[in-house]
Amino acid sequence: MKLPDLEKWAGSVIYKRGDAYHRSGQVEKPAMTADGALIAWVFGSEKYATMVEVENGALSSICTCPYDDLPPCKHAVALLLAYLNFLNRDRYLFFIDTLYFT
Ligand SMILES: [Zn+2]
Repeated sequence: MKLPDLEKWAGSVIYKRGDAYHRSGQVEKPAMTADGALIAWVFGSEKYATMVEVENGALSSICTCPYDDLPPCKHAVALLLAYLNFLNRDRYLFFIDTLYFT
């Protein structure tokens, strides 16, 4: 999975919020589905299920939060940053089925 410039993708305001979420550990157990999408629970005022995948070379995100402007939301940014952090530390990423969220 190649990541484009996250700050450009999300805009600097959303990026900073997502970064703060990631730094304070609000992304729980990022995981990867069988078809390569990233998913996790992200905690804020409530708990949201967030998924990020690559479609035609571009990132796209889905989240259960009420942010209904154009994606992505801060939860998607936080998830991607948590994922990168996992990679940087050679941590094992869980593989789970998307059925987990249904
Ligand atoms: Zn969200």
